[in-house]
Amino acid sequence: METIVEVIDELNIDDKACMALEKAGEIIKNGGLVAFPTETVYGLGGDALNPESSKKIYAAKGRPSDNPLIVHVADMQSLEKIVKEIPDAAYKLADVLWPGPLTMIMNKSDAVPYETTGGLDTVAIRMPSNKIAAELIRQSGGYIAAPSANLSGRPSPTEAKYCVEDLNGRVEMIIDGGAVGIGLESTIIDLTVDTPMILRPGYVTKKMLEDILGGISIDKTILSAESGVKPKAPGMKYRHYAPKGDLTIVEGEPLQVTKYINEQIMQHIAEGVKTGVIATTETAGLYKADVIKCAGSRDDEEEIARNLFSILRQFDDEQVECMFSEAFDENGIGQAIMNRLLKAAGHKVIKV
Ligand code: AMP
Ligand code: MG
Repeated sequence: METIVEVIDELNIDDKACMALEKAGEIIKNGGLVAFPTETVYGLGGDALNPESSKKIYAAKGRPSDNPLIVHVADMQSLEKIVKEIPDAAYKLADVLWPGPLTMIMNKSDAVPYETTGGLDTVAIRMPSNKIAAELIRQSGGYIAAPSANLSGRPSPTEAKYCVEDLNGRVEMIIDGGAVGIGLESTIIDLTVDTPMILRPGYVTKKMLEDILGGISIDKTILSAESGVKPKAPGMKYRHYAPKGDLTIVEGEPLQVTKYINEQIMQHIAEGVKTGVIATTETAGLYKADVIKCAGSRDDEEEIARNLFSILRQFDDEQVECMFSEAFDENGIGQAIMNRLLKAAGHKVIKV
């Protein structure tokens, strides 16, 4: 299949862009797939109410079919058709946080095929704020099922070029809307349980959710090492975001961390292994690795979130074999950063 790439400026959706979005909408309505930008990461979209489209999404990504997709909508009214009932909590959260990087789990109606929910009776729903995404949803009939637009297991794409890298020839169209603003996938909250539970941390923090709803619980598997306990979001059990080389996170006092990483790097370099470090503005100058990537300043977690997935992909491009990353605070967005980093490292953490 030939993949068309359309470039659209989110801040200037002109006639040409409208035509491209109409064409993309037609592709989705006809059962095809379109990769598109959202504020979190790029999504791989198909018609959420068409079981054949969901099957195609799994096939294009190489994703296991028990890993449910998120359904993207453009307005609140659209919820009525796809859920049994809209919980009060959903209205409260939507009021403040939609459109935006929050996904809510609700009980699904018969309109949503099991192919989209990975066989579950619940459905994950998000209303993205990216204007290209919102218009594409409207043009596509209102419901786009979209996981992140990467091959299964790889870091989520934060720029269209990474979608091309993974999905060229596997989808009908890729919409290039530039680099995304957030860089980590949405926060997922389950509203089908008595106390709403965070299943995946993201840009929307526990504190933001608590301020709106009061009591919130959190899936204990989010930051713990792989164990016998299954995460509640089925997708979180899979190896994710992993670079091709070996990644270890090093935790401890900053000077100690830098010293330990440099010792390890010298050893690896002596053995002819290509090394890399995920550093911060504060420490980047102190490392001696072959490839040093600065994720941003420790004072700006949003910058670190935005850069993380791209850095993991750049290590692959530069064929780095052994990588070390500093650890980050697990407060606020730091929790989402550490969750992704731990998965990328297969939970390999060294405390110094
Ligand atoms: P991605 O589309 O790559 O961002 O992955 C979507 C995430 O949402 C995966 O971790 C899924 O397991 C999770 N998810 C989607 N639907 C549900 C659901 N009904 N219940 C729990 N988790 C879900
Ligand atoms: Mg994903």
